[in-house]
Amino acid sequence: MKGKTVIITGAASGIGKATAALFAKQGANVVISDIQEEEGKATMESIVANGGKASFFKTDVASPEEMEALVNFAVKTYGGLDIAVNNAGIGGELNPIAEMSLEGWQKVININLNSLFYGMKYQIAAMLKSGGGSIVNISSILGAVGFGGSAGYSAAKHGVVGLTQTAALEYSAQNIRINAVGPGFIETPLLNVLDAEMKEQLVALHPIGRLGRSEEVAELVLWLGSDKSSFVSGSYYPIDGGYLAR
Ligand code: NAD
Repeated sequence: MKGKTVIITGAASGIGKATAALFAKQGANVVISDIQEEEGKATMESIVANGGKASFFKTDVASPEEMEALVNFAVKTYGGLDIAVNNAGIGGELNPIAEMSLEGWQKVININLNSLFYGMKYQIAAMLKSGGGSIVNISSILGAVGFGGSAGYSAAKHGVVGLTQTAALEYSAQNIRINAVGPGFIETPLLNVLDAEMKEQLVALHPIGRLGRSEEVAELVLWLGSDKSSFVSGSYYPIDGGYLAR
């Protein structure tokens, strides 16, 4: 990873934060991006304090202009873009379809799906200029199956898999590999809306008997971002303690 430049969206918290720390440990130049400025800068500072290379660039992933500016920042700061991890996301409104608000639906589709189109549009253009790269899109187990109350989230995460496969068909021959990761339920602030009983019910859905950790997902993202996965493109990798095997 030495000398490679990686953009990670949603890197102020949870999976993105753990991924940023792991890429930095491997020597990458890490562009931390998030809508939360204070927490994003704190992630950057902790990487730099540990001897890593990192910058922070505030970005709302639901804005195409800001996603373009993020890519331009990475290219200008480090001379190119090698890896992008499109990770930022929200849990979204929890309601059955007939009761889901139009705003709730649109918000989760904007942040969890449209953002990946914006991201890839500009990331791919930059990678084509420097001869290739690797894009890792964070989907979910809910990119493969449904979940009552989460229609918008599940539709967005299924969409991420379709976008990933299509992008891989379009750009693998030009040395850009594009893959998706499907985490099971992971202990991050995203799950703060759930009470202890709901969390216990979720644990029971994972045959491994616990929820996942951000650091475990980061290891898979690192592998997909690195040359070690050089023959992998257009794939969807669950990392879910057996959730989808049920
Ligand atoms: P998290 O809440 O800990 O982190 C998400 C980060 O995204 C936050 O720092 C937040 O500020 C940022 N973000 C939210 N909206 C944004 C926007 N509009 N622009 C820029 N940044 C924004 O959650 P997490 O669990 O680490 O989630 C990371 C990704 O993993 C998400 O895409 C999520 O859907 C996915 N995922 C999470 C789980 C889980 O159980 N935690 C499971 C499967 C998939």
